[in-house]
Amino acid sequence: MEERIISARTRSDDDWQEVSLRPRTLDEYIGQDKLKENLQVFICAAKERGDSLDHVLLYGPPGLGKTTLAAIIAAELGVNLRATSGPAIERPGDLAAILTNLAPYDVLFIDEIHRLHRTVEEVLYPAMEDFALDIIIGKGPSARSLRLDLPPFTLIGATTRAGALSSPLRDRFGVVSRLEFYREEELQEIVRRAARILQVPIDEEGSRQIASAARGTPRVANRLLKRVRDFAQIKADNEITGDVARLALQMLEVDSLGLDEVDRFLLRTMVEKFSGGPVGLDTLAAAISEERETIEDIFEPYLMQIGFLQRTPRGRIVTQLACRHLGVTFPESAQQNSLW
Ligand code: ADP
Repeated sequence: MEERIISARTRSDDDWQEVSLRPRTLDEYIGQDKLKENLQVFICAAKERGDSLDHVLLYGPPGLGKTTLAAIIAAELGVNLRATSGPAIERPGDLAAILTNLAPYDVLFIDEIHRLHRTVEEVLYPAMEDFALDIIIGKGPSARSLRLDLPPFTLIGATTRAGALSSPLRDRFGVVSRLEFYREEELQEIVRRAARILQVPIDEEGSRQIASAARGTPRVANRLLKRVRDFAQIKADNEITGDVARLALQMLEVDSLGLDEVDRFLLRTMVEKFSGGPVGLDTLAAAISEERETIEDIFEPYLMQIGFLQRTPRGRIVTQLACRHLGVTFPESAQQNSLW
């Protein structure tokens, strides 16, 4: 499938500028106030005690700032960040090599931690709990286990699906936090900050238009800003005004709520082919030729957040609100379902 402009996942055109748009301190990090406040306390306390920070698990939809936050935590602690991801660590030995190379108090960031192999995950248990590595030497009856000490460190795990984590792993995190979708005012602030860094003039209405189409997600906000900037440069006077933003978003086929063709196709398919639902995830995935995981990670969280889709034990159903937005009739059978 073609990459979507509103995808919360990283796209190939999220170039190096993305890096410079990343906030570097907790103060620069906009929104997620409760989480920030807690982290501030935990970081200060750990520093004061001269301890490593407790292991942190960050979960929530892609593009909300988990990687950014991990880098900020390391910076605020004044230590190095070593970043990797679940699928990149293929064997237990790979993880052992990473762990033994950490300096005391370093932060190890593992993105998509739910995708760690089971055998690799088992290396993490004693590492997280006792800062130790258990190595098996030899094979068969003569095999023995040797325990190696590791420097104290902080593991920050990120995942889009906390439910997919095994409970022994989840239980070893001292701090477990969910990142929330951002409010429109927060996204507007993120857009204004990014516009300042990119040196593109933007007015109040321009930033509001982009913020409201950003699906509660900073990564989408920054990407839309860059595309609207191109439009402003070529078709307008470089400045992003409300009108320029509206026209540019129209050209990108992103509507005022941040829905694109694919979202609309999904919702319309639910109405037209499944009388509004309930429809099972696999059936829906087959009907719109998408992967089940993409629907669960990318489409659903936002559509549920804006009240367009509901999850019921019998499947997904479309809501009256969604039909009104699409300008289609709300199926009668769905009306009954939504009353239950
Ligand atoms: P995740 O790891 O959750 O997928 P990232 O940390 O990679 O998300 O964030 C995506 C982009 O969004 C970052 O490059 C950064 O520019 C921007 N971003 C994320 N969170 C914030 C925030 N709180 N304030 C400002 N920009 C943010």
